[in-house]
Amino acid sequence: MRNLEAHPQNIDGKLYCTEEGFDNGCIGCGICYGQLPQVFAEDDEAYAYVFKIPNDDELELVKEVIQDCPVGSIILED
Ligand code: SF4
Repeated sequence: MRNLEAHPQNIDGKLYCTEEGFDNGCIGCGICYGQLPQVFAEDDEAYAYVFKIPNDDELELVKEVIQDCPVGSIILED
């Protein structure tokens, strides 16, 4: 079942961006899809979602981007 706080365009998986309007929701700053466009994309309103499951190399970069997100909107579940 979809996490109601996740952006609806996220690909299914452990990594996702939360939707604007929720606590820690994306503010559309552009950092994640600017730094890692292989994994993150922007919707029509510049909010972020995950469109590709990262490979092992990309996952290391994802972990850095998670730290860079100013609102903690990028979630990587265990
Ligand atoms: S870094 Fe965070 S706030 Fe900025 S676009 Fe990505 S998910 Fe949204």
